[in-house]
Formats: sequence, C-alpha cells, structure tokens
Amino acid sequence: MENYNRPREACGVFGVYGVNEEQAAIITHFGLFALQHRGQESAGIVVNSNGRLHGHTGMGLAGEVFTPKILKNLKGTSAIGHVRYSTTGSSNAKNAQPILVSYARGQLAIGHNGNLVNARALREELEASGSIFQTTTDSETIIHLLARPCYGNFSDVISKTLRRLRGAFSLTMLTPEALIGARDPQGFRPLSIAKLGDGYVLASETCAFDLVGAEFIREVEPGEIVIINEKGINSYFFRKNRKKALCIFEYIYFSRPDSKIDGKTCHVVRCDLGRQLAVEHPVEADIVISVPDSGNSAALGFSQQSGIPFEFGFIRNHYVGRTFISPTQDERDMKVKVKLNVLPDVVRGKRVVIIDDSIIRGTTTLSRIVELKKAGAKEVHVRISCPPTKNPCFYGVDFPSHDRLIAANHSIEEIVKFINADSLGYLSMEGMLKACGGKNFCMACYDGNYPVPFEEAVEKDALEK
Ligand code: SF4
Repeated sequence: MENYNRPREACGVFGVYGVNEEQAAIITHFGLFALQHRGQESAGIVVNSNGRLHGHTGMGLAGEVFTPKILKNLKGTSAIGHVRYSTTGSSNAKNAQPILVSYARGQLAIGHNGNLVNARALREELEASGSIFQTTTDSETIIHLLARPCYGNFSDVISKTLRRLRGAFSLTMLTPEALIGARDPQGFRPLSIAKLGDGYVLASETCAFDLVGAEFIREVEPGEIVIINEKGINSYFFRKNRKKALCIFEYIYFSRPDSKIDGKTCHVVRCDLGRQLAVEHPVEADIVISVPDSGNSAALGFSQQSGIPFEFGFIRNHYVGRTFISPTQDERDMKVKVKLNVLPDVVRGKRVVIIDDSIIRGTTTLSRIVELKKAGAKEVHVRISCPPTKNPCFYGVDFPSHDRLIAANHSIEEIVKFINADSLGYLSMEGMLKACGGKNFCMACYDGNYPVPFEEAVEKDALEK
C-alpha cells in the first residue's frame, strides 16, 4: 500500500492546435515535462494526423514513456497530452490517459484533471443501460456520456454531458476537427489558454506555456467550454454563476512556483504565506530552512519578515523515482533520508525554524526533526504555511482519511510532542486568505466546508485508503 506522507495531485493536462505537422507531439511532450509534478505514474499523447487520431500512453515519466522514435511516429498538427497520478482507478497502463475512442460521431480523445464525486452513480446508470467500461477511472464516464445517442451538434452534446458531472474537472479533448477545453463550474483545478504562432495551447499551468514559448491569453473560466478549430476560438458556458471554489492548495503546494493562477505567481503568494506565518508565529532562532522544494518560497518569505537568515538545511535528491514503494515504517524513514539529506555544518548548534506546507500523518515531519537533531540542531521550531489539514479531499488530491490525518485527531500540543519539535505554528485561515488574496476558494481540507456534496461511495473509498 502506498503511503500518504505527502499530498499528491491527480493529473496535468495539455493541448495544442494549429502547429506544424512535425511539432504537435514534441510541443506536447515539452508541455508534459513542465506539468510532470502533477502526476508521475503515467503519461500519454494523442495526435491528430490528417484527420485520424492516434496516440501512445505508458507507465512512468513523460521522458521515459516517449522515446525519440515514438515521438517521430506521432505526427500531427494538434495533440493533447496527460500526466497522471491515480486518485480513482488503479495505477496501471489501461488507466493511462488520454483515453482515445471511436464511436458513432467519429474519434475522440480526452484528458482529465480532477475527481468526479458522482462518478460511481453515473457509472452504475451507464452500465445498467449497456455501457461497457474499459478502465476503472472516473474519466471514462465522461466519454460514455458524450457517446450517448443525443440530438444536436457536438457543442450541445458536450454541454449536456458536462452538466451531469459533479466535482472537479479540467478537461482537454481532441477530435479530428477541434481542440476543446472545459472547466467545472467551481473551477477547482486551473486551466489556461495561450497563443503559439498561428495556433493555440491549453495547459493546467502557465509554466507549460513558458517552456513551449506560448503567450498566455487568459484562464478558461469556471463553467466554460472553449472550442478551438480552423475558425479560431469559440467559447460558451455550460453552467454559469456558480460560486467559484479554486483549490487553495494549488497556491500553497501543487502548482509550480513559476505558474500564475488568477494573475498571481505562486512563488509570490508562497512568500506572502511565509511572511504572514512569521507575523503570526514569531520565534527566536538562528536560521530558517525549508523542506525543499515546496517549502522554499514560504521559507524565504518567513526569513524576509523575521530577519532570520535563510539557509539550506536539507539537500534534496531529485532522482528518486515515484515507484519507490515503502510499505513499512523503516522503509519510509529510509525514503525520507534518500530524498532529503541534512547539512550538519549548517544546522549544528543552531536554533532552526523549518518551514513546510503541510503535516499529513506526522511521521515524515518526525523523521526530518530526528535527522536535524542528530545533526546537532539545538532547537527545531516547525512552521506550516497553511492551517492544519483536518479533512480528506474528494476533488482530486490524495489526502488520507480523517483517522490518518494527524491534525484531525490531535491537539497542537500532542502534535508537537509526536513530531519531537520545540514548537509548532500553523498559519491561520485569515492569514492564508490574506496571502492568497481572495475568498472564492475551496478550503475543505482545512474547514470541512465541501463546495460540492460528494457521494457516500466516494467517502467510503477515501476511508478505505
Ligand atoms: Fe484543494 Fe483541499 Fe479543496 Fe481538495 S479539499 S480541492 S485539496 S482545498
């Protein structure tokens, strides 16, 4: 069984339309590199080659799945790509995306980021009326709904389908005629559009645009469908005026620091989270260190606000594969050491503030503090750049169930004792909102207010993790 010491994102999506025939797969491959942090279990690309869709998917990182030979065979002027971490459906090659199908209207490929909370009910309904599912993903449900006999043009079919979905979905779809992007009415997961020469690009995060040289145009709005074809961009809304609920954890942890969401660069927001944390939980200390890489920006902000020098206390090994299964506590401890190595010369004899973006079960934090103290740190003060994580996520982030989230069942004092810290401070809800600038967020993992009701079945799945 996997461990849940770090939260993980469900997926990243990418799409390109209207480029040179040799280029669509290569551009998409670069896009997937930029989005790799959102999912490392599988990767896939589907291209449109002269009106015929074909693709390649496989288990592993984008750089492992696509050899130069495979990319050479993926010629096309438009493409979609996907990197996956499984939160619903098991981790196997069959569940890799994009999913490509042929049906009554022709060919269709789809890539999905997010979790549908009514997927089980929809699947039961579809199976009862004859649908045969090929995968165990919630994403396949969307394909089956799109393939239902339904009058009207394809735009109407997409609208009708998306209106039936509940939960989080940022989608890219490819047909022989068009590249399509869509975002759920709450806008849980990000999705943006950019211009690339005479063509267009869609991506989960704007950092992918920088890599491929595309120019950001705007975000796909919550509830919006964007159809890109030879006529340009056509956009309409399948649902409007729902309360927006962007996942605030995109700012805190998931999105790359160089990505922009709602006009704000994640690095800048994280620095502000760190500054606010220093205001709320000041401490006498000699150095501020981060849990790299995700804690770097907040640690910098904490240092700037507090005047305590920022130092590198840990060096991260970037080459540890995600397939490193660690079923026992000993192996998990070893994994922590393999990933992060403490610098004794930096921390020896020092009062250390360590900045992180979450404490999930507490075991990883404990291991880090043990390492710091073994290396000679005099005191270790833990500061977390968000409030305590008390609830699971049903919208595409792999938090464990309540009983395994340390903050759901223990007081701050108990957590301090468990992780062997000298003090612990979490950022307040108000402080987090101030730094993230706004109020239209999903914050359910902190406050338990779920913006979209979820099926009991989904909750049961989460509890069984
Ligand atoms: Fe994001 Fe937490 Fe909401 Fe999940 S529950 S979408 S992780 S804010």
